Amino acid sequence: MIITERKPLEEIREMLEGFSKVFIVGCGSCATKCETGGEEQVKEMAEVLKEWGKEVLGWAVPEECCDYRFLRRDVLRPYKEAVGNAEAILVMACGSGAQAVAEVTGKPIVPALNTKFIGITERLRSFHERCRACGDCLLFYTGGICPLTRCAKGLLNGPCGGQANGKCEATQWQTDCAWVLIYERLKEQGRLDLFKKLRLPKDWSEWSRPRERVWR
Ligand code: SF4
Ligand code: SF4
Repeated sequence: MIITERKPLEEIREMLEGFSKVFIVGCGSCATKCETGGEEQVKEMAEVLKEWGKEVLGWAVPEECCDYRFLRRDVLRPYKEAVGNAEAILVMACGSGAQAVAEVTGKPIVPALNTKFIGITERLRSFHERCRACGDCLLFYTGGICPLTRCAKGLLNGPCGGQANGKCEATQWQTDCAWVLIYERLKEQGRLDLFKKLRLPKDWSEWSRPRERVWR
């Protein structure tokens, strides 16, 4: 899931300066689960905008904001006139969703959220970063624990000399050392041969931008 958080209201207000007619687009997927761009948050934002003297022409929460198909079905077709009359679209979705809205509407967009990371949900409002989308997954070799996101130095061979009692120096021993976790996991699974194996420097070419994937 893409983890987002709302920008400070003052920043949103500044970006909206000069736009009086606004349409709001949320996201029925990740941002709803993060409680940053679901129906409830969109309605609250509409009230804030009205207090700022803006004319809210409408709002919509597409099934997924980062998908052209849902944007067309849930936003463009049912709210064609309102979107057409809007001077700006306030987008309460991740950066990918905000760009999709900019592309399909051609309107100036105001991103209301900051995109933080790809993470897992532990419980409501508790998220943990677990993947940097490196393009070349090595979880098989590390017991299903990603060292690129969970080791403060992103080491491919660890632990480094900074671990003590299973904790990491880079966070003043507040978080677990990823490589101790990897060791424990592989040991439990009887796969310590993988831990002993030297992992060569990663091929970061898969990480170079821009990236596109089109399957035909
Ligand atoms: S190795 Fe880590 S960053 Fe790369 S794809 Fe796998 S989980 Fe994501
Ligand atoms: S202590 Fe562990 S998690 Fe921290 S930087 Fe060293 S290897 Fe990585």
